[in-house]
Amino acid sequence: MTREEAKKRIQELRKLLNEYDYYYYVLAQPKVPDYEYDVLMKELIDLEQQYPEFFDPNSPSQRVGNDHDQSFQQARHGFPMLSLNNTYSPEELLDFDQRIKKTLGEQFHYVCELKFDGVSINLRYEDGRLIEAITRGDGTVGDVVTENVKTIRSIPLVLRGDDFPVRFEARGEIIMPHESFERLNKERKEQGLPEFANPRNAAAGSIKLQNSAEVARRGLDCFVYYIVGEELPSDSHYENLQYARKWGFKVSEHVRRVNDLRGVFDFIEYWERERKNLPFDIDGAVIKVDSLRQQRILGETAKAPRWAIAYKFKAERVSTRLLSVDFQVGRTGVVTPVANLEPVHLAGTVVKRASLHNADIIKNLDLHYGDYVYVEKGGEIIPKIVGVDKSRRQPDARPVEFITHCPACGAKLVRDPDEAAHYCPNRWGCPPQIIGRIEHFVGRKAMDILMGEATIKQLYEAGLVRTVADLYDLKYEDLIKLERFADKSARNLLESIERSKQVPFERVLFALGIRYVGETVAKVLARHFKDIDRLRQASYDELVAIDEIGDKIAKSIIEFFQDERNLQIIERLKKAGLQMRVQEQDKPQVLEGLTFVVTGNFGTPQRRKKIEELVELYGGKKASSVSSKTDYIVAGDKPGASKIQKAQQLGIPIISAEDFLKMIGIDSLGE
Ligand code: NAD
Repeated sequence: MTREEAKKRIQELRKLLNEYDYYYYVLAQPKVPDYEYDVLMKELIDLEQQYPEFFDPNSPSQRVGNDHDQSFQQARHGFPMLSLNNTYSPEELLDFDQRIKKTLGEQFHYVCELKFDGVSINLRYEDGRLIEAITRGDGTVGDVVTENVKTIRSIPLVLRGDDFPVRFEARGEIIMPHESFERLNKERKEQGLPEFANPRNAAAGSIKLQNSAEVARRGLDCFVYYIVGEELPSDSHYENLQYARKWGFKVSEHVRRVNDLRGVFDFIEYWERERKNLPFDIDGAVIKVDSLRQQRILGETAKAPRWAIAYKFKAERVSTRLLSVDFQVGRTGVVTPVANLEPVHLAGTVVKRASLHNADIIKNLDLHYGDYVYVEKGGEIIPKIVGVDKSRRQPDARPVEFITHCPACGAKLVRDPDEAAHYCPNRWGCPPQIIGRIEHFVGRKAMDILMGEATIKQLYEAGLVRTVADLYDLKYEDLIKLERFADKSARNLLESIERSKQVPFERVLFALGIRYVGETVAKVLARHFKDIDRLRQASYDELVAIDEIGDKIAKSIIEFFQDERNLQIIERLKKAGLQMRVQEQDKPQVLEGLTFVVTGNFGTPQRRKKIEELVELYGGKKASSVSSKTDYIVAGDKPGASKIQKAQQLGIPIISAEDFLKMIGIDSLGE
């Protein structure tokens, strides 16, 4: 490579990596797999070392990837918050060890930890209370996300004991455990929203939400892996972590202190094998020099400490055969290709299917029927086909081509130029779309009508229900004629349909199944417009001026109301008596699923009663005693000592009346 070529390549790599950083840190939607990113970064670092004349302090190799998002206030970290140098190779660990031995010239220990795959957070404590939670940002200044972080139950708002420093910062990783991730994606799928690719992205997206009550429902968790401050209890990082655990932080039980590199390799080998059994994702191990004094001697670069290194695991990968590809049509008409594979063991589960996402992915893989494909589960739960073993391809293998017509109704598919997806445009005639929309409409979080998939299909096939409005014309005589319906089941269904007329407007709006209008967006729209007719008349500008409503949602709403058939359905639903406007007493049910205990003095007894009323009005539950089912304690002056003690033991957040009012989005108790 000539000097000129090197310069060009360096510039190219910087541009590319900056772009990938933006997608990864700000949008939480990575464009490429981590391994690919890391390989490009290594190429850049090597070139920059070879050609130091092209040094640039703004190169992505010199800076911490910045997660700053305009909608949050910013604050400065007490101590810089850096990234970690990383490697995939044992040889580089040997180099790391050599460098440390050389610089220190004395005995030292390593601490081995799991590398949690989430987003980093800095928690500032003063006098044992959480003051501020700040994202890593650019390492110096980060976004203030305190309200959101307070909803994570494993983060203590008040510390236990009395031997913590007056002022310090706890550094940790906010993660989304597999269980929460699967639940969230299932919900998003039901709502026609894009699913998160992996728990890391889901955690990163959740921590930057504007609505804390929604964050509370996301089921996040947090491990603390480092504490920094002027007066820490010990010179040993390992011992400080044990203190942190005593103060109430969640510190992993898998931290090990070892004497040398052999201990480090044992730890890595063990976790490379065992990570599949953890209830959350890790993407490697972190190795740190234990003594803080020695850490100071080793120092740091602008981007990462010299006393630590991350050893990253390669994604687990197996080879298996592609048997066939199914094309599934969802309720919104999107066609998703799904690969059927010869069953194979991968990271603790048997994989039989893998999503191929869209036509571009099939094309890029150059996939043929009968191919041996590589399937990977990286930090990601959903298995992915990442490559094809072309050497094993049969000479007569047929390429996989994206279908041109809908497999269900035969309509010609269309492709939105802005998106990778293909749609079936036959909204009103394509059976899986029609059935999917009815299924969504009757769902528990929508109209909550008690009917299963089989009944919906039966009613559809009998020609009784073609749109959701037809449900309200069903008669006993129609139903009783059908197979599988008896007197009781027919009456139960009609009763359940009748009851659905009381479902509040925000849920009716969600039930209509407007693309991208999930539960939360429906609540926002209902709160803002109060009435379906006002929403129908809203202009694009009016819609995008609302927090949480972006271009995509606004366009989709406008398109929905432009379709005459949707308007006819809405008219019929209105006539049937469904709630098409907010009733004055309907408050947005932002506290749904959350239980509160209110304790202490709030000035007057009426104010305390008012808080309890608000809990219920906004969909929460109030309880009089603290238990593991309690989500929040709202504490005034002189709160019940035993309640507070129990809450601290259980790690339940204790919030003020002001915090509570912020959760429901009102300014004051309004006496
Ligand atoms: P990183 O995630 O590789 O390592 C640093 C982070 O590890 C810390 O900030 C901390 O949050 C976390 N961590 C987890 N457990 C820890 C522990 N026990 N002790 C200390 N820290 C711990 O670095 P990064 O700067 O956050 O991100 C860079 C990496 O992110 C890249 O190497 C790449 O893999 C990925 N990335 C990918 C893309 C993409 O487009 N795919 C883009 C940017 C970054």
